[in-house]
Amino acid sequence: MLIALTVDVHEEDRPADVSRAACWLQARGIPATFFVPSALFEDAGFHHQVARLPALGHEVGSHGHQHDFVEIRALMRGAASDLEFLRRSHALYRETFGAGPISFRSPAWCPLGPAAIGMLVALGYRVDSSATPQRLPIFSSTPYANTWVGARRGIHKLASGLVEVPTSCLLLPAASPTFLTLRRRAALTFLRLLLWEAQRCPDRVPCVQLHVSDFVPDAAPPSPEETLGLHSFLPRADGGLRFKVFLRERDPRRVYAIMQEIIETLHSERGAKFVTLRELAR
Ligand SMILES: [Zn+2]
Repeated sequence: MLIALTVDVHEEDRPADVSRAACWLQARGIPATFFVPSALFEDAGFHHQVARLPALGHEVGSHGHQHDFVEIRALMRGAASDLEFLRRSHALYRETFGAGPISFRSPAWCPLGPAAIGMLVALGYRVDSSATPQRLPIFSSTPYANTWVGARRGIHKLASGLVEVPTSCLLLPAASPTFLTLRRRAALTFLRLLLWEAQRCPDRVPCVQLHVSDFVPDAAPPSPEETLGLHSFLPRADGGLRFKVFLRERDPRRVYAIMQEIIETLHSERGAKFVTLRELAR
């Protein structure tokens, strides 16, 4: 069974942790796709760490430019003129790696409108991994948008030359925030359910998301920028229900232990072979 492991990088991460995560995976023979907001290519601290990812056997995909709500709104319902940041992002990627990116994941897995899909095709992207089929909007960062509720669960053609590889999902995405909220036992049960489905449906490729801080047993994940209050229980159009970020495991050793078991569970799957999204596009 082919398995895609993806690691989303964000500006609140510590740059050195990008390499630590990449080396951890390389030491275990696991190629991964790192989704990086291209603004980090211009950051002296991140540039070097991100630029060496391909040499460690990993793919670098695009995670937008600034990874903010201006970009999220543009991706969901903007016109082509609102999506110039995708061109800039693409150019920065070329400057850094000498060739354009192949894979894209929207910030917060926001749904893509027709203009965004058209722009990805025009820029030569071949894989999108923004879809989270049947995710509950209320727990997403865009609670009033359709968070791919009716999206197909298997790999499929999204547009000419562009393949959708959905992030595995069932109400919640198979992703770091979910695993750290459910904790070890429930997270592994949830993952096994998705693997069970994938064993039975040939068009499904388990695609799991982690964060670089999951790989670092000596530091807490980046702390929430906000404080918990009554406002945290009202769904904001930009950000959703914020109390959810306070539910996550924050003890770095337990975070690391959960991540290790997630990867072990994937590894022990019958015929497991880890692939980057770029390889899947072939
Ligand atoms: Zn992100």
